[in-house]
Amino acid sequence: MSNIRFRAIETRTARQPVKVIPPSTKVSDYFGTHVFNKEAMQKFLPKEAYKAVMAAIEQGEPVDRKMADLIALGMKDWASSKGCSHYTHWFQPLTGLTAEKHDSFFEINDGKAVEHFSGNALAQQEPDASSFPSGGIRNTFEARGYTAWDPSSPAFIMESASGKTLCIPTIFVSYTGETLDYKAPLLKALHALDKAAVEVCQYFDKDITKVFATLGVEQEYFLVDAALLTSRPDLMITGRTLFGHSPAKGQQLEDHYFGSIPDRVYSFMLDFETEAYKLGIPLKTRHNEVAPSQFECAPVFEEINLAVDHNALLMDLMEKVASRHNFRVLLHEKPYAGINGSGKHNNWSMGTNTGKNLLSPGSTPKSNLMFLTFFINTIKAVFEHADLMRASIASASNDHRLGANEAPPAIVSIFLGQQLTGILDELEEMVPEKKMTADEKTALKLNIGKIPEILLDNTDRNRTSPFAFTGNKFEFRAVGSSANCSNAMMVLNTIVASQLRHFKKEVDGLMDKGVKKDEAILKVLRQYIIDSKSIRFEGNGYSDEWVKEAKRRGLSNVHTTPQALDAYVSRKSTKLFEELDIFNHREIEARHEIMLETYIKKLQIEARVMGDLAINHILPAALRYQTILANNVRSMNDIGMKSDMTMTQVDMIKEITGHVSQIRGKAEELIDARRKANRITDVREKAIAYCDTVKPYFDIIRDHIDRLEMIVDDEMWPIAKYRELVTIR
Ligand code: ADP
Ligand code: MG
Repeated sequence: MSNIRFRAIETRTARQPVKVIPPSTKVSDYFGTHVFNKEAMQKFLPKEAYKAVMAAIEQGEPVDRKMADLIALGMKDWASSKGCSHYTHWFQPLTGLTAEKHDSFFEINDGKAVEHFSGNALAQQEPDASSFPSGGIRNTFEARGYTAWDPSSPAFIMESASGKTLCIPTIFVSYTGETLDYKAPLLKALHALDKAAVEVCQYFDKDITKVFATLGVEQEYFLVDAALLTSRPDLMITGRTLFGHSPAKGQQLEDHYFGSIPDRVYSFMLDFETEAYKLGIPLKTRHNEVAPSQFECAPVFEEINLAVDHNALLMDLMEKVASRHNFRVLLHEKPYAGINGSGKHNNWSMGTNTGKNLLSPGSTPKSNLMFLTFFINTIKAVFEHADLMRASIASASNDHRLGANEAPPAIVSIFLGQQLTGILDELEEMVPEKKMTADEKTALKLNIGKIPEILLDNTDRNRTSPFAFTGNKFEFRAVGSSANCSNAMMVLNTIVASQLRHFKKEVDGLMDKGVKKDEAILKVLRQYIIDSKSIRFEGNGYSDEWVKEAKRRGLSNVHTTPQALDAYVSRKSTKLFEELDIFNHREIEARHEIMLETYIKKLQIEARVMGDLAINHILPAALRYQTILANNVRSMNDIGMKSDMTMTQVDMIKEITGHVSQIRGKAEELIDARRKANRITDVREKAIAYCDTVKPYFDIIRDHIDRLEMIVDDEMWPIAKYRELVTIR
């Protein structure tokens, strides 16, 4: 068979599951063996060096050069004992991927070869990074950027087929100190949250001296056979299918959801989970998702910086391991039109050094008041900065998912569930404007005391909210599956930090005027409940009524990325970022520009692939089939058939001609639109032009191609069809 698609299907059908044997059936036997964790550090570091690292992790203390030398030495010995010959500074540049630059431990010292790793090499590196996006910062100021060790995330070992590398998590900054990556601003936001939250905690519990945000990431993804991909350049290059008619049996039956996991997929999962465990990634659940060939995995939550690193690492790992199983992982938010997309639910909360979850109610009125404080402040923060939250999840790929009918809409709203909605409503009623009487105080206290310690988890009752409270944490569900969650988490932690600072100021202000502490807290909280009411929504977020209702409430609904990104550089956001020392205005403007550029690039690539595929793959197939039809008509005429007998064929020929000429014409218009857009120099204007004048052609061209798919002989169709792509064998 010459058709590449059929060869691919044959290859896929012949596949057998790859046998995977984990080092032990007990995960605890090998969990974290590839991580320079506490145990490894205790074994390989002198006491003073160990103490220095722990102080850096726990209190953010800087590590001095002498200590860095000792730590580097221990780290090298540990890594060598595990078979590493190279090390790399591992970082997360704004490309959205992870980056590495490998160096050997090997050095020449006095003409002799030795293995060496200095504190300098550990602490700082200068990757040749001129091609990482910098939004003009590095061009304007300094040509180079450097990576700097982040001791709060432990070093780990990445294994590949023919070697092991010690990876050192780092931040990436320009020589003038501007951040050029995802991690640095996240660390700053976490620091700001820690400070602000601890101050508020002091109202309730003097023992709380440290607050850290926690994150558990549910990662959705699709698997596709690697052979089938060879016939789908669109999927291979852009991560999504640009064409494809919906399969006859899509997800209507929903039989895939929580169904049994196919053998080949099971092997893949076992394999990547094993690798993840070695790296200390605490994966906990795996299951099928709603769409055919869609799956999900989730770890146990961790301190946020670690959780973000682990998610980035996990995405790398999945891709690497998938190729061993002849799969490709599709992390794109919308690989297939008409079939559910993928998200990355960010489960977020705050924990304290005393072991308390600040978003979990306690057993006393006092601990419940603390819970309400953090709970209501989070709601207020999201209300105040809803547009920034929307911006934090904006990307070309997530645009295909947000607002589509099986994902949270582009409107930011908060779901609380009946129980807590009731409690907030009561608070609003019960706390008076005036000074509280003793009776009122007692009643209120009793009421707050009534909050059950274990709240119902509403997760399954409302899956349509982009930001939902689920018992003891908020779940930011609008984050895209391919995103680095730092962006969303940096924004969330920043706005909550800022909100807590405002709260503290307001409460202190009232207390200075002689209002008692609890009463002051309740008064401010009540005002927040009233202020932020419009963002609370308990109904079906996917419905058209909600779109109308949200509009009435004055909530924004920004559908596309170029406009959504404006919120990063609004006056309000710039002030927020500067006040909390997350970004200066130059950094945020640069970042904004990078995001717009990324958006443009993604659309440029899609437009090119679309043109190529349409003209060089689809049209030739359609024309070949048309020739067959024409020959058929001719032979029918030759044997004396009347024209009414060949009407169907002639109609089909006409139909094909219609689509072919439309595809050709629209492909040319697309190229024109691209040229025009490319001439625009302002990057925001250019992104909008791509969005408004280039992108609409995608759907138009696609529609003609999908119709051709229904006409052209199946044997001639050159690219794998949806039903083939989503079938896992
Ligand atoms: P589901 O949402 O499927 O019901 P869970 O609620 O148990 O499952 O957990 C979903 C994710 O939320 C997991 O990664 C879990 O570890 C995480 N999670 C649970 N508690 C917290 C918390 N306090 N902070 C952050 N994430 C949490
Ligand atoms: Mg969940």
